[in-house]
Amino acid sequence: MSNWRNSLVTALLGIALFPSAAQALPEESRTPGGVALVPLVGINSTAAPQVSYGEQRVMVVPDSRSANSPDDSSNSSKWLAVVGIPLSAEADEPQRLSLDGASFEFRISPKEYEAQYLTVPNKRHVDPNPDDLARWERESAEMKAAFIRWSEPGQVVDKMELPASGRFSSPFGLRRFFNEQPRNPHSGLDIAAPTGSPITAPAAGEVVAVGNYFFNGNTVILDHGHGLTTLYCHMSAIDVSLGDHLQAGDLIGKVGATGRVTGPHLHWSVSLNNTRVDPLLFIDNE
Ligand SMILES: [Zn+2]
Repeated sequence: MSNWRNSLVTALLGIALFPSAAQALPEESRTPGGVALVPLVGINSTAAPQVSYGEQRVMVVPDSRSANSPDDSSNSSKWLAVVGIPLSAEADEPQRLSLDGASFEFRISPKEYEAQYLTVPNKRHVDPNPDDLARWERESAEMKAAFIRWSEPGQVVDKMELPASGRFSSPFGLRRFFNEQPRNPHSGLDIAAPTGSPITAPAAGEVVAVGNYFFNGNTVILDHGHGLTTLYCHMSAIDVSLGDHLQAGDLIGKVGATGRVTGPHLHWSVSLNNTRVDPLLFIDNE
């Protein structure tokens, strides 16, 4: 039998014998800026338990991974918490999830992110004046309201397609210096593409913020449910309205260079439990 046939048969058998192996989940990375998959061992409720991490409710999905290791029934769990870990989390401190009458701890490892030095032509984007700052505070509040939303669409989204094609010009997590001044770390992935290139929804979601913001330029936020939101910045055009329900692949807008930029690109952030995490953990590499 030829190789491709062999792999086809293996793939088909795999699907038939281990349906749970197909469970889509973000790639786990228990580091600052990563995602932890925490089995909620001993929680056997029929409905998904309500779990929080700090102030924020976290995504909980059925844990069909445990069906893959039937020998290890002592550790099997029915539910899995999918937790976004902040870039500011300290690796030597245990992280704690809480739910009614129980708590779960998990440990994270340190991760060193590289430094990036950028020169921004508009000096107000580095040293904003008081009016700029007041504007930014209003806009931050608007974006936070979108990031902290909790909605429960029928389908849990935990895997995504890339929203634009182009070179990854700045990875997630870079420690940033604008005109030699330290600023917040890079909370998204930058995809460089010519102005006007399409930006599409990476998964089904609802448009929950639309604005022209001081730093982020033309911006859209999508709510995918269960605490998962995505942010699109610096667009030259916005092609959606507040409240629109999008399917994966629907047009959101076009790549541009609005706000604090050094050239046209899409800044794409993925947020879980109001925590910006590495977007590539949600993308299949296959
Ligand atoms: Zn960016």
